[in-house]
Amino acid sequence: MESVIFSVDVEAWYDASVIKTMQPCLNTEKCTDRVLEPMLWLLDTLDTFGGKATFFVLGRIAKKYPNLVKEIVHRGHELGSHGFEHIPLTQRSITETFDDLTLSKNIIEQISGKTVKGYRAPCFSITAKNMQVYESLAQAGYAYDSSVFPFSLHPQYGVSDVPLAPYYAHEQILEFPLSCISLLGLRFPCSGGAYFRLSPSLYTKRCMSAITQNNRPFVFYIHPWELDDAQPRVGSFSLNYIRHYSFLSSTRKKIISLLENVKTVSFEQWIQQSNHILSLR
Ligand SMILES: [Zn+2]
Repeated sequence: MESVIFSVDVEAWYDASVIKTMQPCLNTEKCTDRVLEPMLWLLDTLDTFGGKATFFVLGRIAKKYPNLVKEIVHRGHELGSHGFEHIPLTQRSITETFDDLTLSKNIIEQISGKTVKGYRAPCFSITAKNMQVYESLAQAGYAYDSSVFPFSLHPQYGVSDVPLAPYYAHEQILEFPLSCISLLGLRFPCSGGAYFRLSPSLYTKRCMSAITQNNRPFVFYIHPWELDDAQPRVGSFSLNYIRHYSFLSSTRKKIISLLENVKTVSFEQWIQQSNHILSLR
């Protein structure tokens, strides 16, 4: 069974929470999305290495770029939802959350002709404060989620007391927590995004080995804007600035190195392959 699940949160550079923090008045309607070039590079690179992935597409992006959604399906990958607007669920009511979950799912399904089973919340925003989201996910027709970071060191997200391996967070919803390693009683994130960009490749490789040897899937994630070193710079020099813009020029090389060493699968493929262990209920 292949144990590295490759996922992509398909959103524009200005959807990142640190951009909104650094430049809250940014007029995003005047910004170019800069999604297509990095996405096509990613699709071509996955093809080169025979890797598969799950693409959690923002509903707004799917509506604007329907041919991109169709291309993802044409290349044999899985589609999931990243919500319609990139607003953390911790800032939304249950009704707003349900409407967003349903709208994004419907749009992606209408464009692709495929059933959307998976969801990833903007900014990993399923936390101990809004676990009722799982009921909304079930009602909206989702079967799995990958939004929970199982550690407590980040100020905006994370749940410290959930399992590190996939678990049923709701009778109908299988949760795939983002990958963390456990060391000296503490949990450290290693699954992707800034944790992938800002740490040495050896850290990711060691964590990946430790996690897969423990029979857990390594859940990797990346964003198109992390492959785009030429994106506009906003904000002033700060920790957020460093976190968002550092090592963007080396992300593509690091992804190639990862794909050279492991075969990646989508969530859907992993669930099918591990049917004797876990299945969608
Ligand atoms: Zn996102």
